[in-house]
This record gives sequence, structure tokens and C-alpha cells, in this order.
Amino acid sequence: MGKEGLCWEGAIKRLRQQGKQDGIVMEIIEIFPKCSFSWEKIKEMKEHDIKFWAADGLNLLYIVEIDEKRKSFYVVNQSGRISWPPLKYQKLEEVHNKIHNGEITLLSYEIDKLVPTWGNYITGLFKHLGCDKV
Ligand SMILES: [Zn+2]
Repeated sequence: MGKEGLCWEGAIKRLRQQGKQDGIVMEIIEIFPKCSFSWEKIKEMKEHDIKFWAADGLNLLYIVEIDEKRKSFYVVNQSGRISWPPLKYQKLEEVHNKIHNGEITLLSYEIDKLVPTWGNYITGLFKHLGCDKV
């Protein structure tokens, strides 16, 4: 399994495209371990007040506000501090792809380089979504 083998979403997308090209309808059965990262999932977490730990294990976080138009959201820590600026889903997706295709490791320090100050929270979020188990 090469680096690409780690990215199920990408692999499935490619298989679907191939299937289309071959005129075959492909049904991918969800047998692969997969994380639950998606915009829908973020919204679901907000709706149900799902809390998750930051990577340092010191802050219990939750998503407090979602901006559907900008596709961004705010995270609050347990002392009630709201993260500013809001986190853009597009940025999150970018980091997420890099993690699953092996460009970077799921570590606060690594993510901080891409999204300054957010490493701790994003790592916690991705772990909550099972990205470290895929
Ligand atoms: Zn993931």
C-alpha cells in the first residue's frame, strides 16, 4: 500500500470515476475504515453540542456557531473563549487531505504550520472524527 492507499476518500473517488468511464455502476460497500470528516458532520456536531478534546487533552471544545454562507465555524473552549477568526472549512479540508495522503502527520505542531494557532484544536477535532485510525 503506497501513500495514496491511506486516502480512502480519494481512492473511492477514483474508483467511481473509473467506473463511470467504463460504463459500470460501481457500488462501494463501506468496508473500509473511514473517518467521518465532512461539512455535514461539523454541522451535526454543532446541532448536538458534541464536545471533543483538543490535542493537548486540556481543553474540552465544542462548535458554537456556523456560518453557512462562508462555510466557517467558531470553536469555544471550556473557559468560554471563542476562537477568532473563525475556521474556514475549506482550509480544514485542505489540511485534512494532506493528512490522509501522508503529506503531514496529525500533530498540533505540523498543523500549526499550515493554520497558525489552530494546530491543537484541529488535531483534536480530527482525532475525534477518527482520522488517526484510518
Ligand atoms: Zn479524516
